[in-house]
Amino acid sequence: MPKYFFSLEELFGDIIIFKGEKFHHLVNVLRIKQGEEITLCDGQSKDYQTVFMGVQNKNSAYFKIKDSFPCPNEPNFLISLYQALPNKADKLDLIIQKSVELGVHEVIPVQTSRSIIKAKSKENNNKSSRLQRIAEAAAEQSERGKIPQIHKAHTFEEALKFMDSQKLWLVAHEKEQRTLKSIISEKPPCSVGIWIGPEGGFSDNEIELLIEKGAITFSLGRRILRTETATITSIAQVLVLWNE
Ligand code: SAH
Repeated sequence: MPKYFFSLEELFGDIIIFKGEKFHHLVNVLRIKQGEEITLCDGQSKDYQTVFMGVQNKNSAYFKIKDSFPCPNEPNFLISLYQALPNKADKLDLIIQKSVELGVHEVIPVQTSRSIIKAKSKENNNKSSRLQRIAEAAAEQSERGKIPQIHKAHTFEEALKFMDSQKLWLVAHEKEQRTLKSIISEKPPCSVGIWIGPEGGFSDNEIELLIEKGAITFSLGRRILRTETATITSIAQVLVLWNE
């Protein structure tokens, strides 16, 4: 059985009640049996071992909590992904799905000077809730303890303002030669922000502004990777280098 997240509104004492999509999926698609055990997660890194009690009113699935324990699957440092908007919307879907599976804490889509898709503010809200659902499904499938937040798209200038001194800031840059391995210290920082450029790359000016803000540029090797490949590789390397 996959792991599902529940919200406080679905919790009634030691009973969790699912309706709607989760009800349909568990009862009609996965055909969960009465007495079957399933892990449910509160999205705050706490897992609950529960037993399926049955269906009421044909639309509510009841689960009784037996036990709870900390979810062991969250990385021990936070990764914020600053992803330049790629040239096709479905590429962002893939980037979010894969980066959530790997363990990012949040994704901030960024409109850079060479991003072809523009973040229209009207669409931004709908789009970000759709992307949030992609993140939730990926977090469930990879048995995360938290649902990463997918922020609405920001302009490059807005995103620059999020660059505080609390994080280690890294920028994947195809013109750089030093590798992540040569930059990264043995001890992980509490949190790291990784910037990935769009298909056309970051402009020289953007790279300068990022460096001015304290970011370190790094290479992923001699071959130029597509933006989605660069994202997945960078996250995987950071995780491996800090023993995750
Ligand atoms: N415009 C560039 C390629 C951009 S690739 C060109 O055609 O030469 C898209 C993004 O992926 C880049 O902005 C960078 O963030 C990342 N990237 C791709 N290959 C990389 C590499 N070998 N090293 C570091 N970053 C890379």
